[in-house]
Amino acid sequence: MGPKPRRETPAVDIGGVKVGGGRPIVVQSMTNTDTADVVATVNQVAELARAGSELVRVTVNTREAAAAVPEIVEKLEKLGVRVPLIGDFHYNGHILLTEYPECAQALAKYRINPGNVDIGKKTDDNFRRMIEVALHYGRPVRIGVNWGSLDQSLLTRLMDENSRRPDPRPAAEVVLEAMVVSALESAAAAERYGLGHDRIVLSAKVSGVQELIHVYRELARRCDYPLHLGLTEAGMGAKGIVASTAALAVLLQEGIGDTIRVSLTPRPGGDRTEEVRISQQILQSMGLRSFLPQVTACPGCGRTTSTFFQQMAEEIEAYLRRRMPEWRKTFPGVEELQVAVMGCVVNGPGESKHADIGISLPGTFEEPKAPVYVDGRLYTTLRGDRIVAEFIQILEDYVRTRYASRAAPTGVR
Ligand code: SF4
Repeated sequence: MGPKPRRETPAVDIGGVKVGGGRPIVVQSMTNTDTADVVATVNQVAELARAGSELVRVTVNTREAAAAVPEIVEKLEKLGVRVPLIGDFHYNGHILLTEYPECAQALAKYRINPGNVDIGKKTDDNFRRMIEVALHYGRPVRIGVNWGSLDQSLLTRLMDENSRRPDPRPAAEVVLEAMVVSALESAAAAERYGLGHDRIVLSAKVSGVQELIHVYRELARRCDYPLHLGLTEAGMGAKGIVASTAALAVLLQEGIGDTIRVSLTPRPGGDRTEEVRISQQILQSMGLRSFLPQVTACPGCGRTTSTFFQQMAEEIEAYLRRRMPEWRKTFPGVEELQVAVMGCVVNGPGESKHADIGISLPGTFEEPKAPVYVDGRLYTTLRGDRIVAEFIQILEDYVRTRYASRAAPTGVR
């Protein structure tokens, strides 16, 4: 049972965060502010980092954006937000990284898209220039292929080769092969130009679930670089969440993937940190990492005709989220806590016994009492209109008793 062991890869150090090398799978995100707008970008990076993003990528697309990067990093430091910032470059990265050395210095990693760094050229001078900057500042790179901006000369080459085969493959397969080859050939070129093998992360993103799984399986088979997983342009709402989860879950189960990003399209004015929470939830649901205590709640049915049960499940989940910033510091391991909030006697006691702490609420026509289970045993039975408050108090006591002993002594960090 459980996922296959992770692929063996070198560990790539990104501003102190290690990706690969068997380290925990890293959650990352990307801003959608104009990077030249220092205040907006600082605020969003801080929000993403506070939500748990361990790396944050910003677009560096203009001179103004490149000029703003050092100030963004400085302001984040003043706020006490220490999250490595990654620069996302397309078309003009070689110019910006060369002309704005303070930007190159401030960024912890450069994302290079091999499909648009040397468009229409016979040489890879621009790519090489970016690698030279990475070498100069001792920075790693992600070679990030995307099928929306695939290297057209490489694709033409592979299509021509394919057409000369006695049994040509479908064009769609050649496109996916071109993505894999683009990532691998670019990584080989980066190493030829002097970049260490342990300074390279690869990604090859497509927007189709089956295609993504195929491409990453191929990358995993053909190289040992750490892999950044993500379904590109996943979409909005449930569609984006489900498609990303479906793709990432298959790969993670096979031991493929060292860092993940869920690329959701937020609603106008929506909360950008949602993509961080979804990434965390994917990893936690699969048992790969723990971030937050988990609430098991039944879906409810005709046996729960009042809304009390849904409200309580929601309140408990919100309470856990609110308490986590403090609990995380004081009670190490609390993120593994399992809480059950169940709607009736059918599965309520059983599910509550499987959790660390659980409550089985009375369903319609049941006696108005709510047994609480702690560590698999009946602990008490709650009645009346203070059930939520009393359950929260039991929860607090449980956390304090169970996790306090693991806390570091005062003054030890
Ligand atoms: S535990 Fe009870 S209320 Fe919840 S889904 Fe099952 S039968 Fe319905």
